[in-house]
Amino acid sequence: MTPDQELPLEVFRRVIREAIDREAFDCSSEATPLQSVCLSYQRSEQAWLNKRLQTLHVRQPGIIYGFYESPQDELQAYAIENRTQTPGFIAVSSFCVVSFGFFFRAALAHRNVLNEFGNSSHEMSPAEMGPGPHTFAAPRDPERLQLAKLITMMAIRFLTAHEMTHILNGHIRYKLGIQNQNSMAEARQRLSPRDAIFRQTLEMDADAGCVVECMPFVIFAEKDPEEPIRIGCHAVYRTPEAALRLWLFAVYGICRLLSEGSPPIPIEESSHPSPMLRVRMIMGTLYEFLKREKLGRLLDLVPGLIGQAIQDGEAAYAAVLNRTPNTEPLGIALSDEAQKQIAGIIAEWRHVRPIIEPFARSGGRLAPLPDDL
Ligand SMILES: [Zn+2]
Repeated sequence: MTPDQELPLEVFRRVIREAIDREAFDCSSEATPLQSVCLSYQRSEQAWLNKRLQTLHVRQPGIIYGFYESPQDELQAYAIENRTQTPGFIAVSSFCVVSFGFFFRAALAHRNVLNEFGNSSHEMSPAEMGPGPHTFAAPRDPERLQLAKLITMMAIRFLTAHEMTHILNGHIRYKLGIQNQNSMAEARQRLSPRDAIFRQTLEMDADAGCVVECMPFVIFAEKDPEEPIRIGCHAVYRTPEAALRLWLFAVYGICRLLSEGSPPIPIEESSHPSPMLRVRMIMGTLYEFLKREKLGRLLDLVPGLIGQAIQDGEAAYAAVLNRTPNTEPLGIALSDEAQKQIAGIIAEWRHVRPIIEPFARSGGRLAPLPDDL
């Protein structure tokens, strides 16, 4: 397989693997600052998750991160292997976490991506960059480098909050108690159609809970404009629409990378809805969330911000991985077939919710049924 035929996540996995083989992938090494940054985010996310679970009196180990040869198979094998030692955990591949860091850093190194942020004129144009993949490119502008780290943190928080919802909303406890299954892996798996639709509703619930969990960390200045100055965070948070645009870019970016990173599985047998279908449902939840919180100004801005996130996400994907921009995966998520799948998931949710609800812990909030909204 030549580099440009590799799947996007495979490109990153290969370069990280090579770095590990050269022993250059060391958290403490100054020579690999980005890896160190990503792994330290991972550790701080783990700490954040553990603290949240402790506050809610949930005694579960939460997430176990690890480097694996194949995110799909070995992670699953690892999860099964460790089931007796650590009841109720979710296995997440560190390869994915670090790949996201590389992707966002390389994206901001391109002048045409998020060009209103920082001083993008310092970055190279597509012609100057030449054909990629540009997996190790870094922004020249220090502000854009800072933003790349911030977007990576948003992406990792999205993942953590998604996993936390699996725990809080009882998905894992249900599996522990009923299905005698001890762990979940976030790699897409092939299941029987009956199990697949059940699992897809849990993924939808985890994404919905995740949006609710993430938003207070993104748009807090909308309710309290002084807060960003008081806590001394990055200036972008003073403009909630700018922070929200970066968050949407982060979420679109990870889904875009994942959209081609797994083997093709028919949707009716897949453990997860397709990443682009998830984007569509996440955007829908965001819209409902802003409506519920009566954040009308942002609600009006959301359609435009989503459009920009898709445009920037596609530009980044094409520039970093040497692809042509391609909105086809997103187009499929807007098709009649996708609409039918969403309707199927929502219908299934009516059955799943009463089964799962007894396993949910305090603080967990199940996704509302459409007529609850
Ligand atoms: Zn999940």
